[in-house]
Amino acid sequence: MSLEKYKKKRNFKKTAEPKGRFVKTGRSRFVVQKHAARNLHYDFRLEADGVLKSWAVPKGLPKRRGEKRLAVQVEDHPVDYIGFEGRIPEGQYGAGTVKVFDKGAYKIISGSLKDGRIEIELKGLRHKGRYFLIQTRMAGDKKNWLVFKKDS
Ligand code: MN
Repeated sequence: MSLEKYKKKRNFKKTAEPKGRFVKTGRSRFVVQKHAARNLHYDFRLEADGVLKSWAVPKGLPKRRGEKRLAVQVEDHPVDYIGFEGRIPEGQYGAGTVKVFDKGAYKIISGSLKDGRIEIELKGLRHKGRYFLIQTRMAGDKKNWLVFKKDS
């Protein structure tokens, strides 16, 4: 658990994104941020172990049972990022607009992120119900996960 990668990628004199620190709140929140960067995508983040575990989901989380979506794990983000909205300036990492698309609480049903296999329940406005996150070994790359929706 470290925010080093997060900090290295950003120049906090130029971006308004939170500098971030490791903070254990004891809460289990999630956020989906719509990120209109060079390529529009959705950033899915789960609060865990003092950071936000994060994935870029090009098409967003699945809406129906049976749909599976690629989720590319990215660097852990600081917990304060959970409410971040704004414009990341041109030339900076992730340049573009970030908006909160959904947020709420989540609960672990089974498995764990560390094991690369977890079932969670999301309690958001747009995202509700059970989802699976499964780490793949596509092309030997552990960054690639798949997200499924369990119920319809
Ligand atoms: Mn992003």
